[in-house]
Amino acid sequence: MLDIETAPIEAFVWGLFDQNIGIDFIKNDWSILSYAAKWVGSKKIIYADTGGRGVRKVRDDKILMRPLWDLLDAADIVIGQNLRKFDAKKVNAKMIAHGLGPPSPYKVVDTLLVSRKHFAFTSNKLAFTSRLLTDTPKDEHKRFAGFELWKECLADNPAAWREMKKYNKRDVVATEKLYLKLRPWIAGHPSVSVHEDPESPTCPHCDSSKMQRRGVSVLRAGGSYPRFQCQGCGAWSRGKTLLRTTASSKKQLVSIT
Ligand SMILES: [Zn+2]
Repeated sequence: MLDIETAPIEAFVWGLFDQNIGIDFIKNDWSILSYAAKWVGSKKIIYADTGGRGVRKVRDDKILMRPLWDLLDAADIVIGQNLRKFDAKKVNAKMIAHGLGPPSPYKVVDTLLVSRKHFAFTSNKLAFTSRLLTDTPKDEHKRFAGFELWKECLADNPAAWREMKKYNKRDVVATEKLYLKLRPWIAGHPSVSVHEDPESPTCPHCDSSKMQRRGVSVLRAGGSYPRFQCQGCGAWSRGKTLLRTTASSKKQLVSIT
């Protein structure tokens, strides 16, 4: 699980409405302020930020990149809300800018894209879906409301950093809970099943061995395979052994179509 917080670009502007800001007008480019990460199922939350070193170093995010690189390199699947378009690309941009090469490839599960693809929630924002589907509570009163938190972190205010840490960590936990709820619904979830024994398959979504054989999965290209439902997470999956077509299964196929 990964969630990053970034600081905005600072730029010179001539007005507020409908501005077209040239690159020469940039005073400070965006930067990564903090990240929170955890391995699914583990209690430990990994967190680091650029605070506590004085105002001039707040935007220096180089210290975050090596540990982040190591985490991404170790992960086979990285999960986050809006991870594909935001966090993963922001982190890539900073890794290359700080002279790091690409970490070993990882699959992405983006809870925002999953929410959009499979469900008609009123909102796909984490604040909405996590409250709808998990026990994540609503934001309590914040000491630094809205953008004030970012401004105060950029001023290296320790109280603001404490709040940033709290919310960054809370969001990564909320995203994990949401992910676990969404997981059985995710079509094409990258397989976490490490056992390849076709006689006793494990769940490709959660690696549980509590698999119940339920019906037959017929491919469009032809061929039918045993279908399983995981008794751990509820996900459906297809076995690997091609079933031999018998007269009775042909009849069953005809009645399906
Ligand atoms: Zn499962």
